[in-house]
Amino acid sequence: MEAYCVKCRTKREIQDPKEVSFAGKGGQQRAAMQGICPVCGTKLFRILGKK
Ligand SMILES: [Zn+2]
Repeated sequence: MEAYCVKCRTKREIQDPKEVSFAGKGGQQRAAMQGICPVCGTKLFRILGKK
């Protein structure tokens, strides 16, 4: 699972990914993967809900 790292300004493999849910627009529950960048340690966030 890859996500865009804003610090590295490139895509990184998510380290220690966890599935989380959050309230999107209109109170809809959305699924996302949250983890950290293996290079710089920045939080990575990738929305899964919509294809
Ligand atoms: Zn990074």
